[in-house]
Amino acid sequence: MPNDQREPHRWGFTDSGFVLNEDNSVTLTGNRYSICGYPMPYFIPFVESMLNVSLSTMQPRAERQPGRLPEPNRNEAFCAALAQKFPVEQVSFDDADRLRHSHGQTTVDEVYQVLYGELPKLADAVFYCGGTEQAQALVQLAAEHDVCLLPYGGGTSVSNALRIPADERRMVLAVDTGRMNRIIRLERDNMRVTVQSGISGADLERQLRAQGFTLGHEPDSSEFSTVGGWIATNASGMKKNRYGNIEDLVESMTVVSPLGTLQESVGAPRVSSGSRLHHLLFGSEGNFGLITEAVLKLRPAPEVTRYQSLLFRDFATGIAFLQELSKGSVWPASIRLVDNPQFRFAQSLKPAQKGWTACKHSLQKWLLTMLKGFDPEKLAAATIVLEGSAHEVTVQHRALDRLIRRYGAIYGGAENGRRGYQLTYAIAYIRDFLMRYDLIGETYETSAPWDCIRTICDEVKRAAELEHARYGFPGKPYISARITQIYPTGACIYFTHGASIHGVDNADQKFHAVEQAMRAVILANGGSISHHHGIGKLRAAFIPQLYSDATRKVLLAMKRELDPGNVFGAGNNLFDRGQ
Ligand SMILES: Cc1cc2nc3c(=O)[nH]c(=O)nc-3n(C[C@H](O)[C@H](O)[C@H](O)COP(=O)(O)OP(=O)(O)OC[C@H]3O[C@@H](n4cnc5c(N)ncnc54)[C@H](O)[C@@H]3O)c2cc1C
Repeated sequence: MPNDQREPHRWGFTDSGFVLNEDNSVTLTGNRYSICGYPMPYFIPFVESMLNVSLSTMQPRAERQPGRLPEPNRNEAFCAALAQKFPVEQVSFDDADRLRHSHGQTTVDEVYQVLYGELPKLADAVFYCGGTEQAQALVQLAAEHDVCLLPYGGGTSVSNALRIPADERRMVLAVDTGRMNRIIRLERDNMRVTVQSGISGADLERQLRAQGFTLGHEPDSSEFSTVGGWIATNASGMKKNRYGNIEDLVESMTVVSPLGTLQESVGAPRVSSGSRLHHLLFGSEGNFGLITEAVLKLRPAPEVTRYQSLLFRDFATGIAFLQELSKGSVWPASIRLVDNPQFRFAQSLKPAQKGWTACKHSLQKWLLTMLKGFDPEKLAAATIVLEGSAHEVTVQHRALDRLIRRYGAIYGGAENGRRGYQLTYAIAYIRDFLMRYDLIGETYETSAPWDCIRTICDEVKRAAELEHARYGFPGKPYISARITQIYPTGACIYFTHGASIHGVDNADQKFHAVEQAMRAVILANGGSISHHHGIGKLRAAFIPQLYSDATRKVLLAMKRELDPGNVFGAGNNLFDRGQ
């Protein structure tokens, strides 16, 4: 992905972004997504009514223009050794490069700081790594010269994992893997592919599809996020029901650590050769080494991809439907259930309805409310992707059909399903647009057993209201939930939380405190700290609740053995200051 097509700090592509029109509608610019290019008149009124604030009277906040950055902390002996070993264009001390590689996409601690505040610490330089051999040479030099290395994939982290530890005194080199973007070997008969770790999801999938294959791993960030980043964060894609999570898709990997290169000669779909270090490298969050290559398991490109949507009387009925579906063995590739606020949010991004469209919508609404008795303020919706051979898709459809009558659900049509999936790509653009109006948003994702899900949803909503009042934020909070992934034992709940911070002193710190309180509520009610975003630094305060003393000791011992000098000093998870 050429960097000139990407926003350096905000989310996404430079040609895509929400703009406010004179008539108070908004438009998503560009033509990358199906919701681009038309005015959305219902969005601002929706935001104003959900948050009980008025945007129309506000001036958008001006972004801080980045001035000259503080001089980099140069370890001259290391810089000289680097210059001897690598072409000069592989190392950058450029301010813009340094700033871009000093943060991820966490809202308050990263994007908000870059655009409207200041990051407390910056990378001193960026190294554009070309492959495993270069990584080996780099890591050796860094260890010899006591330099800190921070792996950087697509920069889409939402856990502060890419934030530079504020108390790091050594020279910090961000290691960008963007040039490690090749498919090394495609084994058609064995259905696997060896790739360099910096390849983005979108590039990999495009190349695989051209050869008749798919990996099927599609996190919402897949336009930018990379194979290395997925492994390092334990990522999960929207079609995990069919293809699995990242740990199900990786057969083996190569990781360059200060101790040496970690590789297991596997070469087979599954091995029983004792404990595998492999498993401990998922979720390593840049703490142990640089992932340079991975062998991934493929599936044939699907013959058929079909979208569908469902409407439920309310969110609780939708959850019960998913729980029942999860007991069977045939699941759609993806099924995502959104609650009523999120359903209405999706409606607010529709174009103005005129003529026959308006008439059709009134009729549909009438049918829903009068005939089916659905309350528009309560109903919930699911977007669905059915994928596989034509036969498999028919079977997936039948599994849905069987449950629909029992739960009183109705089909909402393929177009609404397809649109629902496209919307997920627009959400981060909306976050950045609203930030200009002092509206801050964050997401919390968790996984929980089925019997905790409804309680967690209720308690999170209650906590958002309590915390909002405690810190004196204006208006009311927006909190919505969607169930994004299902398992036989439970599901992943993904909350979106928004609030106005207009006129609030130290608003970023206060919102951060609210976020932590919400995470505590999730944990207290049986949820996990994260289903797929990882710990990074954002959730590190909860570590004592996650690991037993013995577990913690083993992990720390592993870090000491692999990286005694704390070269990989990102300080993520429990490896704060590389203890
Ligand atoms: C809009 C949006 C949508 C998202 N949707 C999803 C989703 O659906 N599912 C999901 O799982 N996540 C999602 N995320 C979170 C994020 O995309 C994932 O955590 C992703 O796996 C990060 O990959 P990356 O390549 O961008 O890594 P980065 O953000 O660059 O890095 C993340 C961490 O991995 C480490 N790392 C990166 N590359 C390597 C490497 N080669 N070797 C060692 N360590 C490395 C970094 O040091 C850092 O600790 C989303 C984020 C955003 C902003």
